[in-house]
Amino acid sequence: MSEPHPTIRPQPGILDIAPYKGGESKLAGHASVLKLSSNENPFGPSPLALEAFRAAAQSLHIYPNSDHAALRAAIGDVHGIDAERIVCGAGSDEIISLLCQAYAGPGGEVLQTEHGFGLYRISALAAGAAPVVVPERERRTDVDALLAACNERTQLVFIANPNNPTGTMTPVEEVARLAAGLPPQALLVLDGAYAEFARDFNGHVDLVDARDNVVVTRTFSKIHGLGGLRIGWGYGPAHVVDALSRVRGPFNLSTAALVTATAAIRDTGWTEHCRSENVRNRARLAEGLAGLGIPSDPSEANFVLARFRDRAEAEACDRHLREQGIIVRRVAGYNLPAALRITVGDAAACERVIGAVADFVRVRA
Ligand SMILES: *Cc1c(COP(=O)(O)O)cnc(C)c1O
Repeated sequence: MSEPHPTIRPQPGILDIAPYKGGESKLAGHASVLKLSSNENPFGPSPLALEAFRAAAQSLHIYPNSDHAALRAAIGDVHGIDAERIVCGAGSDEIISLLCQAYAGPGGEVLQTEHGFGLYRISALAAGAAPVVVPERERRTDVDALLAACNERTQLVFIANPNNPTGTMTPVEEVARLAAGLPPQALLVLDGAYAEFARDFNGHVDLVDARDNVVVTRTFSKIHGLGGLRIGWGYGPAHVVDALSRVRGPFNLSTAALVTATAAIRDTGWTEHCRSENVRNRARLAEGLAGLGIPSDPSEANFVLARFRDRAEAEACDRHLREQGIIVRRVAGYNLPAALRITVGDAAACERVIGAVADFVRVRA
């Protein structure tokens, strides 16, 4: 990083942001690397989405539609929600950033949980607000602790459900209790990046519809397999969607992104296929690791947080996996130094991970 300039300085908070480090994708000396570090969909996007993407090449000289009407209508149909209260962005990252731009700023506080997603902090600092980290209880959101941390400066409260990197789920009644207990000026943001992977879960749309202080964010990067294209959306009360729509760039989504996402979400058969494969392979991965003495909390997402005895053992296992050409995610940056987050791949990938961890355990013993 370079030295700060003597006179030209970014706004307060900006230089407190640590540059983001994504999941790695390459290992020296390995031709076929198994990348299980970014919770990507091992089956990729729907074939219909790929077809729509290719067709978009014909119209690259034309500006995209700026109201995202066709995509919002498709999301509204598939999820049974009001398309007028959907706002689309370049990944849910952009929705999170727009929420901070619109609702957080100097003098305010943005709450997140102990092992919460790193982007909340970045977006809060970028907006000039102070990020506040609230303890969890056994890797689960603690609603009482969040409510106790609220005050007249609280602007936003972020929780992901299911949570990343823990994979745990906060019960819907607990989330409703949180929404009901917030101070009047605070907005609750429920990050549903992994909502599709959870059982019997509609992503808190009932709570959004019942209240005026709850917004959900969703993404096409996970179950829809489109992380490289950058598409996400938010669903909230009309007053929030109105504010975000004023802040967002009118052409924030490309035509390719819009048509591909529209085809992807309408292909509900593909989504269901990816969901059921994940349920099966996730159970296999968790059971295989548990059989080797490596526990994990029941995951409702497309990854498993494998817990080791201590940091040294987690790092040793990570090194061993790398030697085998497998990349998983170290989560010390999320205050979980003794754990590794492993994306649920396809059936063969899960067997390869279990086999490699079994080798590690054998050598360790
Ligand atoms: C992956 C992920 C997202 C998705 O980000 P995009 O910008 O939509 O790719 C959002 N929140 C959490 C917690 C995630 O893990």
